[in-house]
Amino acid sequence: MPDKKDYYDVLGVSKDASEKDIKTAYRKLAMKHHPDRSDDPGAEEMFKELSEAYAVLSDPDKRQKYDQFGHAGINSQYSQEDLFRGVNFEDLLRGFGAGGESIFDMFFGGGGGRRGPARGRDLRYDIDLTLEQASRGLETTIEVPRTENCPKCQGSGAKPGTSPVTCSTCRGSGQVTRAQNTPFGQMVTSSTCPKCGGRGELITSPCEDCSGTGRARKARKINIKIPAGVEDGQHLKLRGQGDSAGPKGVSGDLYVVINIQPHRLFQRLDSDLIMETPISFTQAALGADLEVPTLNGRARIKVPAGTQTGTVFRLRGKGMPRLHGTGSGDLHVRVKINTPASLTARQRQLLEELAEEFGEAKRSSTEKEKSLIDKIVDEVKSAVQ
Ligand SMILES: [Zn+2]
Ligand SMILES: [Zn+2]
Repeated sequence: MPDKKDYYDVLGVSKDASEKDIKTAYRKLAMKHHPDRSDDPGAEEMFKELSEAYAVLSDPDKRQKYDQFGHAGINSQYSQEDLFRGVNFEDLLRGFGAGGESIFDMFFGGGGGRRGPARGRDLRYDIDLTLEQASRGLETTIEVPRTENCPKCQGSGAKPGTSPVTCSTCRGSGQVTRAQNTPFGQMVTSSTCPKCGGRGELITSPCEDCSGTGRARKARKINIKIPAGVEDGQHLKLRGQGDSAGPKGVSGDLYVVINIQPHRLFQRLDSDLIMETPISFTQAALGADLEVPTLNGRARIKVPAGTQTGTVFRLRGKGMPRLHGTGSGDLHVRVKINTPASLTARQRQLLEELAEEFGEAKRSSTEKEKSLIDKIVDEVKSAVQ
């Protein structure tokens, strides 16, 4: 942190300036540097500097401490919020066309300020679905362990009939500031008030149910509706169904993450499904009317005579429903020709007859074919070496 400028220099007044001089100087400079009125990008910083200087020098106690101990005397005694407490900027800047209220927002609105309600933790819940459930959609009840406000004290932590009191250490701000002199100059650190833990309030008679924490763990039953066509890894966001952040806070969100289990038969590719079905070589050769399973029942495919292994048949609209939009994807059925592993005597006889008919009856490779195979094997070997 660079050395802070002297407050008198900031306002351009002498050390013995009267209260009135200080006020006049501040008003004049504030009018010039108010961020609502100035286009200078440094205006806000300048305006803060001016306002801080005015806040200190316009208060006899603070001014005296500053005169005696400089910035260290102020920083060790007052938090940023304390510095501005009691200064009526609204009054001071009336007629400027700029609200005095926004000054507080400017100083404490962002960053380390404690403006805005506390927010509860987001929670994650994983749910396993079958592919069938994902295809139809699902309405179900899940049980989510989460932190809620204690029902007895409504989250205040105070025994019913009593109220929390403002913390005297931080005066309700929940933050304390501390100044330290270091070789790099004065470091002002802001930290959570140790007495109230940042809540700004203290509980004198704690609620018996929650021992003053205001919180209760509960396995909350929540109804969820998962749309048809949902995909693996997608999530539902349930706003405000996460952990509570106390009576004045905003609850976190609940993310329900969808995990779709692998299916025994079907593989999913976006809204399409892919499956493989075995057919016999006689079916492949002669053609067949096949019945295949789908996610919702069965369907028939017509395998024409002379079908090769690996041929894919498409069943339109028998895939997964599309999540956003109408209709469904397709089911692709890939046929795989099965070779029988065992034959009856009659089957064997018929196949041998068939082989003879094809002119390939029970023979080994010819000498010519053998030498060709040897040649290819040798070529592959030498290519590998
Ligand atoms: Zn309670
Ligand atoms: Zn406190």
